[in-house]
Amino acid sequence: MSTPPTELFKTTLTRHEEISPGVFVVGFIRKHDFIPGQAIKLGIDEINPPRIYSICSGNQDDELCVLFNIKEDGFLTPKLARMCAGDTVYVSPPYGTFFGTEHPAWWIATGTGIAPFRSMLASGMGQNKKLVHGVRHLNQFYFGNEFTDGLGENYFRCCSAKPMEGVLHGRVTPFLESRTDFSRDWKYYICGQASMAVEVRDLLISKGIPFANIITEIYF
Ligand SMILES: Cc1cc2nc3c(=O)[nH]c(=O)nc-3n(C[C@H](O)[C@H](O)[C@H](O)COP(=O)(O)OP(=O)(O)OC[C@H]3O[C@@H](n4cnc5c(N)ncnc54)[C@H](O)[C@@H]3O)c2cc1C
Repeated sequence: MSTPPTELFKTTLTRHEEISPGVFVVGFIRKHDFIPGQAIKLGIDEINPPRIYSICSGNQDDELCVLFNIKEDGFLTPKLARMCAGDTVYVSPPYGTFFGTEHPAWWIATGTGIAPFRSMLASGMGQNKKLVHGVRHLNQFYFGNEFTDGLGENYFRCCSAKPMEGVLHGRVTPFLESRTDFSRDWKYYICGQASMAVEVRDLLISKGIPFANIITEIYF
């Protein structure tokens, strides 16, 4: 499904795990097929509007999981963070058009924007992929061990606050600016906040990447 679904179905959380301070993976038994990169709507009751979350689990996994961080002044995330496995949530079937493929690609993410790329990796799409993940703090490289195992030297980590061995100091844009190995034929997937997505898109275009090869998922 690519158009946003309106119907939500009731399900039970089978996973509720704080993987880093204020950052959680929650999951429930998967009832639908999906294409890695797609999202679901998730709500905590039938009255208040749900929010959208990229799926972060593999497309053959028994559980369907999402990754979120608490927005202190937000409506849903503080409440979802206080829930437990066994609690009821309301979710939609997967949907969206941010589709991972076998085609060679750069995956470019900031913060929780790593979620769809974890789904792509866990679904066996790691061949011919290069990933750059930008975060503020060193404990925000979610699923870092899996990306190191799956992508090896094609996994680049950028931390804006602190340097560390094996981690580039700074934001993703200077890192991308410095690269001279961008192929016009590769796909460029960008996921995260709007300002980063626009900055990275413009940078890629300035490096000669055709607009049609830039695929963006913006978290708003
Ligand atoms: C396609 C897509 C995929 C996404 N995937 C993920 C994901 O995988 N992980 C993830 O963590 N997030 C993801 N998001 C973001 C997610 O949907 C929520 O927006 C986020 O979790 C915050 O939800 P909330 O209810 O806690 O906050 P909200 O109540 O939605 O508030 C979010 C922020 O906006 C501010 N705000 C709210 N209302 C207003 C207003 N009227 N005027 C000005 N400011 C306002 C709040 O103060 C807060 O800082 C995705 C979004 C999209 C569109």
